[in-house]
Amino acid sequence: MKKKFNTAPHPTISQVKIIEERNNFPISWLNKQGFCEYGIYLENVKGIEIKPTKSMVEGTKVHATLEANFREDAEPTTFDEMLETSKTGEILSRELPVMSKQHGIRGFIDEVWMTPDEFVIIDDKPGTRAYSSSINQVFGYCLAFKEMIPEKRRIVASLKQRGTENIYWASYFDEKAEKDIINLINRMHRLLEGEIEFKATDNPNKCRSCRFNTICERKMDF
Ligand code: SF4
Repeated sequence: MKKKFNTAPHPTISQVKIIEERNNFPISWLNKQGFCEYGIYLENVKGIEIKPTKSMVEGTKVHATLEANFREDAEPTTFDEMLETSKTGEILSRELPVMSKQHGIRGFIDEVWMTPDEFVIIDDKPGTRAYSSSINQVFGYCLAFKEMIPEKRRIVASLKQRGTENIYWASYFDEKAEKDIINLINRMHRLLEGEIEFKATDNPNKCRSCRFNTICERKMDF
């Protein structure tokens, strides 16, 4: 888990790192990409700073509270120890850091249930609607997690309603899910390399709720 990699910040794109000579972006961008790629362009390529929305601030607060509650009873351990222990029992990990050097992605998984049969990768979301963008994000975590484990235990992707125990969507991270998410990640890398253009949404409802709508030259009328 504590492997050392050659890492440097990208010279022009915020939050992108260059790890072992490959661009590496936050897995949460797979969610933003599904909302509107152009938002990533405005924020991270053009460097426009806009205050976070109320729901973003609340989400961060809820995360911090859950993490603090979890830490009160949690026992510190290493990733390898967790893998070993979970061969015979169940363990829950929160805010597990994951990184795929191969696919150029990194992030923190909200929760991972490790059991003798499977790993359940859980992403907390507000609400109970399984948007394809949320699914892409959790599949991104599954892909990065898969690269970190030396074995072939089944991986399940799931979405949980924030602040509750309600898992409202779950699916195996199978071959098709893996292939599809690799294709999407490759598209993101092509955007970051400037090989293709960031696409703006054509959904006015998204523009209405977007925090960039006061400065975005590509916004739809709403
Ligand atoms: S205003 Fe609309 S087009 Fe512009 S970044 Fe936001 S969602 Fe995308």
